[in-house]
Amino acid sequence: MHLTSGYVSIFSVRNVINLGNIVIMEIRYKRILLKLSGESLMGDKQYGIDENRLAEYAKQIKEIAELGIQIGIVIGGGNIFRGLSGASKGFDRVKGDQMGMLATVINGLALGSALTSIGQPAKVLTAVNMFPIGEYYSKWKAIEAMENGEIAVLTGGTGCPYFTTDTGSALRGIEIEADVMLKGTRVDGIYTADPEKDPNAVKYDKITYDEIYIKGLKVMDLTATTLCKENGLPIIVFDMDTPGNLKKVLTGENIGTLVY
Ligand code: UDP
Repeated sequence: MHLTSGYVSIFSVRNVINLGNIVIMEIRYKRILLKLSGESLMGDKQYGIDENRLAEYAKQIKEIAELGIQIGIVIGGGNIFRGLSGASKGFDRVKGDQMGMLATVINGLALGSALTSIGQPAKVLTAVNMFPIGEYYSKWKAIEAMENGEIAVLTGGTGCPYFTTDTGSALRGIEIEADVMLKGTRVDGIYTADPEKDPNAVKYDKITYDEIYIKGLKVMDLTATTLCKENGLPIIVFDMDTPGNLKKVLTGENIGTLVY
């Protein structure tokens, strides 16, 4: 049995107290915004959605919801379509971005249904009105859903072209008053260089927003970083593809990189 003690602070120390058969687990955050890229949903595929990866993510998300954490999720669409790559093939950029935003809705519907199929209620909200595919997003609808124990799956990015879902995620994280934005990736944090290309790359445990600009690190786009910086939303970049990692981040294990 878990008794969760709610928000402590982003620098709080992990604390699990065992009282016989009662475990009191201190949770770092009360409300989070989780960003998942569309590409991560591909698993080992070249395109689209890998059902096993989707099911694995749903399981990890349910696990933290059961700790009493309120969860908003922004999901990308890169596994299906990106406006920028469409533009390079001759698509109109705005139309391409709209296709990309629709791709995020497809992914959100898939994630929402994977969650409900394992008994975790979820509500899909869309940045552009397309009821009944999802409900039209508002901050209050998202908060109401989270307070009712549903996962708020926030799709359609910002609803505007020329943005990314990283920026959508920063924006929604600020709007829903999340304590932290968790960016789940396939790399276990932020490195001095791309660890897949440079064997000497070193991982940061913590880094400031300004260091990201100064060092030119490709963590996420600068619009997203700036929004987080200006509104004091910390970011944790971590490897979401290792089962159990999401829970570890939230219960204080020092994995990933904190941006503050
Ligand atoms: N997009 C957009 N506005 C937004 C968010 C996304 O136009 O606010 C479009 C854009 O074309 C982008 C695509 O949707 O390339 C998919 O999003 P993203 O590339 O961020 O997905 P991810 O890389 O996270 O899978």
